[in-house]
Amino acid sequence: MKILVLNCGSSSIKYQFIDTEIAITLAKGMVERIGMAGAVLSHTPHGKEKIRIVGEILDHTIALEYVIAVLMSPNHGVIKEKEEIDAVGHRVVHGGETFSGSVLITNEVMRAIKENIELAPLHNPPNIKGIEATMKHLPETPQVAVFDTAFHSRMPSYAYHYGLPRTLYKRHKIRKYGFHGTSHRFVSQRAAFMTGYEIEDLKIITAHLGNGASMAAIKNGISIDTTMGFTPLEGLLMGTRTGDMDPSVILYIMGKEGLSLGEANTLMNKHSGLLGISGESSDMREIEEQIAEGNKRAKEAFDVFTYRIKKYIGAYAAAMGGLDVLVFTGGIGENSVNVRKAVCDNMEFLGIELDANRNENANEETELSSSASRVKILKIPTNEELVIALDTEKIVNEISRSEPPEDGTVAFN
Ligand code: ADP
Repeated sequence: MKILVLNCGSSSIKYQFIDTEIAITLAKGMVERIGMAGAVLSHTPHGKEKIRIVGEILDHTIALEYVIAVLMSPNHGVIKEKEEIDAVGHRVVHGGETFSGSVLITNEVMRAIKENIELAPLHNPPNIKGIEATMKHLPETPQVAVFDTAFHSRMPSYAYHYGLPRTLYKRHKIRKYGFHGTSHRFVSQRAAFMTGYEIEDLKIITAHLGNGASMAAIKNGISIDTTMGFTPLEGLLMGTRTGDMDPSVILYIMGKEGLSLGEANTLMNKHSGLLGISGESSDMREIEEQIAEGNKRAKEAFDVFTYRIKKYIGAYAAAMGGLDVLVFTGGIGENSVNVRKAVCDNMEFLGIELDANRNENANEETELSSSASRVKILKIPTNEELVIALDTEKIVNEISRSEPPEDGTVAFN
């Protein structure tokens, strides 16, 4: 099946066109600066050079028109007509408590995604724009929503409740939701495959370390806890986000510095984390370069980053009553030899022993643990687009075999 995977942001659309039968991305690209001067579409067909098209792209509907046109273009395209797009899979950030798996998009589902806008005011609206644009250009093509939150939807209530009055949970749905679920799901399933065990028999910690970073405790295939919370701000230190912090700190700063709600939000999300502590960069590669040049603030940022990961490994091993597999993924998890080394240092008491040689020479999917290590340490490149494509295929196959249920929900975890 040929599936167009869309990840729509406020001013961008990332896409991959995947042939699930041969598991190949036929083309991928991105439209940037939607609604701004000098919007750009960059497009890379499989095995060919990247091309760039600059144009006036006022909204997501026009952006998608460009994407479909370039997919069909005689020189850079990979299909002849748009009917060759069998289905469209969308990354949708917030499924709230409504969605515990991927679903076929129906009017009912759209209403529910819209109801969750309050929980993700920056993310769900552009996701909705992408779905509506697809409805305009490909009205006959089935669309599927794959939620970042869904994999964490079976967390026990003692893991997701905050210590706030219950009315706030009832009135405003304030609780931990967790994000990066598609990635945590993918790498935990790959981890089970790589170790040769059933996922139902494993206790896995997955560390998705990118600009945004989160960890999950996955016991018997179920995410029982995760570091991100009501929003992606909680948990690990990130490129520009604070992660865990005494909530009183922000009230104190707002008072002292006279910050508005919006300014406080920007401070915690955009000016903090690695960038805030180092004063240099939000990018781990640059942090490591600075450390090599003797920059102490960069080293401090690196230490805060790795220390938190270490702490959560201990916490999640306790939460699961043991640990079998530790997975590193995301740009930093997949590429930073130093971060993996610092995280695994002195963790023998938990059965975690990194093999220095394997760590330094890791490419693609690899085991990094020493032969003495009780815990398997794995590097697994994440592939959220493939998960979205496979979920989409599964749901479309399901509905073509039977009539869709009234509300359109066909859940896959
Ligand atoms: P996003 O969350 O935006 O998808 P990525 O998963 O692409 O982010 O991760 C980006 C992060 O990965 C950046 O901090 C980048 O510096 C880091 N990274 C990529 N390659 C390396 C490397 N070789 N060494 C250290 N960090 C790296």
